[in-house]
Amino acid sequence: MAAHTAFKVGGPADLWVRPRGDCFPGFTAALLFEARSLGIPLFILGGGANLVVSDAGIRGIVLDTSGWTGCTGDGPVLRFRAGTAVDDAVEAAAERGLGGLEFLAGMPGAIGGAVWMNARCYGRQVSDALLRTEIVEHSPLDGSLNRVWVPCKSEDFGYKRSPFQKRSPLILAAEFGLEKRAVPEIRREMAEHRRDREEKGHYRYPSAGSVFKNSREFGKPTGKIIDELGLRGYSVGGAQVAPWHGNIIINTGNATAADIRELMEQAAEKVRDATGFVLEPEIIFAGEWDLSNT
Ligand SMILES: Cc1cc2nc3c(=O)[nH]c(=O)nc-3n(C[C@H](O)[C@H](O)[C@H](O)COP(=O)(O)OP(=O)(O)OC[C@H]3O[C@@H](n4cnc5c(N)ncnc54)[C@H](O)[C@@H]3O)c2cc1C
Repeated sequence: MAAHTAFKVGGPADLWVRPRGDCFPGFTAALLFEARSLGIPLFILGGGANLVVSDAGIRGIVLDTSGWTGCTGDGPVLRFRAGTAVDDAVEAAAERGLGGLEFLAGMPGAIGGAVWMNARCYGRQVSDALLRTEIVEHSPLDGSLNRVWVPCKSEDFGYKRSPFQKRSPLILAAEFGLEKRAVPEIRREMAEHRRDREEKGHYRYPSAGSVFKNSREFGKPTGKIIDELGLRGYSVGGAQVAPWHGNIIINTGNATAADIRELMEQAAEKVRDATGFVLEPEIIFAGEWDLSNT
């Protein structure tokens, strides 16, 4: 899985499946149905930009959505297939002179993952522009598969929270309500965000962006708390707290997933001891973990 995650760590999946093109909905419906009938776990992979996959890898099936891409549009409403890279979606909107997604320019990951995470940056979050999401999920009554559009209700979304985190459906597509905007203005804003990310070192090393969530209760960004404890540059094996940002952990080249997890646990413990604050991971741990020592 190291080849499929931004952190570049993670052992093998038992079965990695990437259906491509128009067969995706039919093929995945059959796959979801059979996996459930046979009791085989199935993990849904977007762009792999928010994951730490264990060194032991993932048991069961990994359904990689990156072969299900594309954009269709009807006036100011654009629909993206879930595997579309976020940056490609932002470009598609810009080409059509539609504003509303500029804040996501340069953010790694795919549309399905961005909706699932309710990704946010520069004061905006995905649910601000989301109109509805197409999902496939098993009926709790008889396990049959339902394919439905779920309208976006703002009360269902919050800071790094979407309703899909509880339901675990397969997100197939998302529709966004955008606004006509002059293309040069859209492009200027996109370029600003991309430049800012470059300056903040987002692409210097493999990572998964911010590792811990922020919280109003802390009174300051989590990264600042970690900085103030002098943890920038602190490392475990090949995993290091970025020397330029306390809330980013980087893979300096030969990190294992276990190094990353251990470093996160040590950082969280030091923060708890010094401040009493309990840090909540933003990144997702996937696969088989031996937690007997934690
Ligand atoms: C350099 C860098 C910068 C980043 N900056 C930001 C930032 O500014 N703001 C921010 O919010 N995040 C940021 N991130 C984290 C990441 O880009 C986002 O969280 C992104 O939305 C994750 O999307 P993904 O497609 O990669 O999801 P993945 O990491 O593949 O998956 C995340 C979760 O979503 C689920 N999922 C993915 N696709 C689907 C689907 N189609 N159906 C159902 N479930 C699905 C997965 O099962 C998993 O639980 C950054 C990451 C990096 C590496």
